[in-house]
Amino acid sequence: MVKRNSGFSNLTAGYLFPEVARRRREYLASHPDAKIISLGIGNTTEPLSNHISKAMADYALGLSTMEGYSGYGDEQGNSSLRKKIAEVFYSGMADEEEIFISDGAKCDIARIQTLFGSKTKIAVQDPAYPVYVDGSVVVGAAGKNCGDGYKGVTYLPCTPENDFFPELSKIKKNSLIYFCSPNNPTGAVATRQQLQSLVDFANKNGCIIIFDAAYFAFIRDSSLPKTIFEIPGSRTCAIEVNSFSKPAGFTGVRLGWSVVPKDLKFSDGSSVNKDWNRVMTTLFNGASNIAQAGGIAALDEQGLKDMKEQVDYYLENGKIIKETLEGENFRKANVEVYFTGNGPYVWAKFPQKKSWEVFDLILDKCHVVTTPGSGFGPSGESFIRFSSFGHRKDVEEACSRLAKLEL
Ligand SMILES: *Cc1c(COP(=O)(O)O)cnc(C)c1O
Repeated sequence: MVKRNSGFSNLTAGYLFPEVARRRREYLASHPDAKIISLGIGNTTEPLSNHISKAMADYALGLSTMEGYSGYGDEQGNSSLRKKIAEVFYSGMADEEEIFISDGAKCDIARIQTLFGSKTKIAVQDPAYPVYVDGSVVVGAAGKNCGDGYKGVTYLPCTPENDFFPELSKIKKNSLIYFCSPNNPTGAVATRQQLQSLVDFANKNGCIIIFDAAYFAFIRDSSLPKTIFEIPGSRTCAIEVNSFSKPAGFTGVRLGWSVVPKDLKFSDGSSVNKDWNRVMTTLFNGASNIAQAGGIAALDEQGLKDMKEQVDYYLENGKIIKETLEGENFRKANVEVYFTGNGPYVWAKFPQKKSWEVFDLILDKCHVVTTPGSGFGPSGESFIRFSSFGHRKDVEEACSRLAKLEL
């Protein structure tokens, strides 16, 4: 018989979101009339802009013509899209040969782990988006869960006490550091000074930062950095993963990119960019050409305007949720609400309560699905993540129910 990859047996049972879905199903089975609203999973809900959608439809139709047909494209991505991304988001910071188009940021994070293999030390923000740790466990870079986290992973608590920015001295030399800003789930955005200290630490200690900027488009405060490459020194210590999913509603269309600077080196002095090119050409065969046509349209004047409007819509939802959670009933229970206005998530602490307990209470009393903070890491305990992805009327209805919740 063929042996199972031991990484899979090391994973703790139950990915967070399937467990959320299971509890929702179970609740509905016993309360079939409940009109459940989800402020849970970070999935986009608003339709694509007509401009972007039409570009994809036109491209798809063109595929049925002799002139418009295309098969495999460059594995690194359509060169006009790479050029456009470099120009629009990384002007003077990265060039098109450092931009690699993908089928999404999550998939790139999984592929990035093949670059470093099983002997790499891992550091993650705690709480964090689950794929950083789970993917590391699958490739063997992290071991079993010993109750307080996976072996080989350095958890970096990000809490209100440290303004959601971790104590860097905990990170071991030569580690891979996963860092997400604007953060999922906390919504925190690292300042320029904070990112500079992270970059300086990484350069000094032989670390590489995997910077997840999937929510960059939600940053409205112009003093906050939207990409790690705004920070001097980052080109020798960082990879950025990014995506059209959240800014353009491409969660189902699937399109993202990663930026791997040519200045970034492994410990033996060899080029990370070269190996990443190898990963993309060997293990990946290019993003859908239809999706890439949509990406190109998203980056022209109209597309950028449409993306901004869509993000504004979600940010407004976030504000509505935040205001609800600051209401009398929550205040009396000493609930602490964190919403930066620069990310799609509202992060709320329910003192002396367990996350799943609050999740079940809100599901039962309000018929609203949320995400328990403890699912994102030990430091997420007692927190609930409220997502601003939703139709306005659903968000308003959920909020009017939440406003009546007795805690
Ligand atoms: C949604 C999300 C992604 C996933 O992006 P895709 O491009 O859809 O794979 C990546 N990182 C974070 C933090 C996310 O919340």
